Amino acid sequence: VRGSFVPPVRFNGGSTSGAAAAPRQQQAGADNGVEDSTKKCLELLMGPDGELPERLRNLEPKLLEHVSNEIMDQDPNVRWDDIAGLEHAKKCVTEMVIWPLIRPDLFQGCRSPGKGLLLFGPPGTGKTMIGKAIAGEAKATFFSISASSLTSKWIGEGEKLVRALFGVASCRQPAVIFIDEVDSLLSQRKADGEHESSRRLKTQFLIEMEGCGSGSERILLIGATNRPQELDEAARRRLSKRLYIPLPSTAARAWIIRNLLEKDGLMTLTDEEVDAVCTSTEGYSGSDMKNLVKEASMGPLREALIEGKDISKISKEEMRSISLQDFMAALQQVRPSVSQNELGQYEDWNRQFGSIA
Ligand code: ADP
Repeated sequence: VRGSFVPPVRFNGGSTSGAAAAPRQQQAGADNGVEDSTKKCLELLMGPDGELPERLRNLEPKLLEHVSNEIMDQDPNVRWDDIAGLEHAKKCVTEMVIWPLIRPDLFQGCRSPGKGLLLFGPPGTGKTMIGKAIAGEAKATFFSISASSLTSKWIGEGEKLVRALFGVASCRQPAVIFIDEVDSLLSQRKADGEHESSRRLKTQFLIEMEGCGSGSERILLIGATNRPQELDEAARRRLSKRLYIPLPSTAARAWIIRNLLEKDGLMTLTDEEVDAVCTSTEGYSGSDMKNLVKEASMGPLREALIEGKDISKISKEEMRSISLQDFMAALQQVRPSVSQNELGQYEDWNRQFGSIA
């Protein structure tokens, strides 16, 4: 009697639920207990007849709200010009997926595009940026979710969230659904080692993928991965266009340095100095380059501190500009995050499964 027993809680639906169970959510359409924020969100999803589209009616309002508020991005705000290099990938993507999203009528029959695009390559090379740029260029709604959050954060609910995601996307066409770390969802794990809920999640996902490839839906699915080797055959088949996004070239690295420094009015390096930094950054990813610029830009501040200047009072004019030495010092701190060995694996996979080897 004096133990820590917690009685089951009765929710307004009348069913009982143990203390550890997730709060029960209302079905879409039932008004009782739905919060105002959720109601507002549902209103935005309603059709001209003031009803929720058929496909969304049996989905939980809270999940629809989560998709609309956290996963959907109306204005991804990335353009091709923000992405350094990758000219070849940009050209292929324009032809393979942007034109079909803009002019579905032209891309029918033998021109009909695959509905799935896989971007693979080392981390930090601009895969997410490309996803956003595709949505921006095609004036499509962008949905972005990391597959690992589906399997970790949404344990047991992942399957329903996937249905809500594809459901909301179908109401917001044209749409781009970007699934980061897609390997963690569609990996070739052994059947007996696979948890039942993750198997259901994977099946649901494949069903939704199949659905958005049929009929006249203007939904593009983009999967991104740093581990393409882990994808199983079904996933490879459905992500029919597979583009390798490699490390930035020397010219692209120079562009990233210039662009970041110019944006902040801090570009004082000469062309020769930029070249020197680029020669020393062979093997750095775009995101490594960004970290390098950040680290180098701290140089003048740290020096001012050593000279005894008060950072809270110092004016920008008093600080010296960023120099080549700052970059050389930063190179000791920021190392490339991708190894040669890993690069070899991407290239092998690209030769075997890439769309344009
Ligand atoms: P990925 O999705 O491939 O892991 P992201 O697209 O998220 O990488 O890139 C991470 C960050 O690195 C970006 O926000 C950007 O600042 C920088 N970056 C990476 N690649 C590029 C690129 N090609 N051009 C410009 N910036 C880049």
